[in-house]
Amino acid sequence: MEERLQKILAKAGLASRRGAEQLIREGRIQVNGQVVTNMGCKAHPLRDIITFDGKQISFEHRVYILLNKPAGYVTTLSDPQGRPVVTDLVADIPLRLFPVGRLDIETEGALLMTNDGALTNSILHPRFEVKKTYEALVSGSPSSSALRHLSQGIEIDGIRTRPAKIRVLNKTHTQTLIEIVIHEGKKRQVRKMFQAVHHKVLHLKRVAYGKLTLGTLASGKYRILTETDIKKIF
Ligand code: URA
Repeated sequence: MEERLQKILAKAGLASRRGAEQLIREGRIQVNGQVVTNMGCKAHPLRDIITFDGKQISFEHRVYILLNKPAGYVTTLSDPQGRPVVTDLVADIPLRLFPVGRLDIETEGALLMTNDGALTNSILHPRFEVKKTYEALVSGSPSSSALRHLSQGIEIDGIRTRPAKIRVLNKTHTQTLIEIVIHEGKKRQVRKMFQAVHHKVLHLKRVAYGKLTLGTLASGKYRILTETDIKKIF
């Protein structure tokens, strides 16, 4: 969100609102390389480069975004094989954001990104049991006993999964769309769970972390989260 420059400068701790106005008046503040002396000037603290006496101002505040990851993107900061990475999709934010956890390259959907290491640890720590909701399109039609196994816990890689919530959303004679809610984040967990009951995941999308949903966010787009959004995760 764009805000008045003096407010941004004050929030960054550079000076009081009045003090910031004085700095603007003195021509010591630049936005994207242009000296700004107009008090009404607005800027975007994340997208614009704001400098004081030629030095970029560091916005120490934490940023949290929800990205709708498209398939084909790797959830790392860089990829030795040169494949597209999720940070390419948030490159207009001049901060080092990192993904919270992982989605497989072929999985789509909700991916949190932040520069807040503490929040990342809380979300990933099993103690907080953050719920993750997926929609999995699977081959065939899992029997009610297969669905029961999935929801009660099933062995993958020698470890039993914790109870999951399973709901059939839609069904054709060849495929079934299933909502699955899990509290864990083992590698390729949803795919392996269905594999364990002999159904292949054809398409996988994470639609929510806790009560924070993707909503109408388009694929490849992100939105900056508010405090209220973040509270919905836990
Ligand atoms: N489970 C998977 O199998 N893949 C993901 O990307 C996320 C959860």
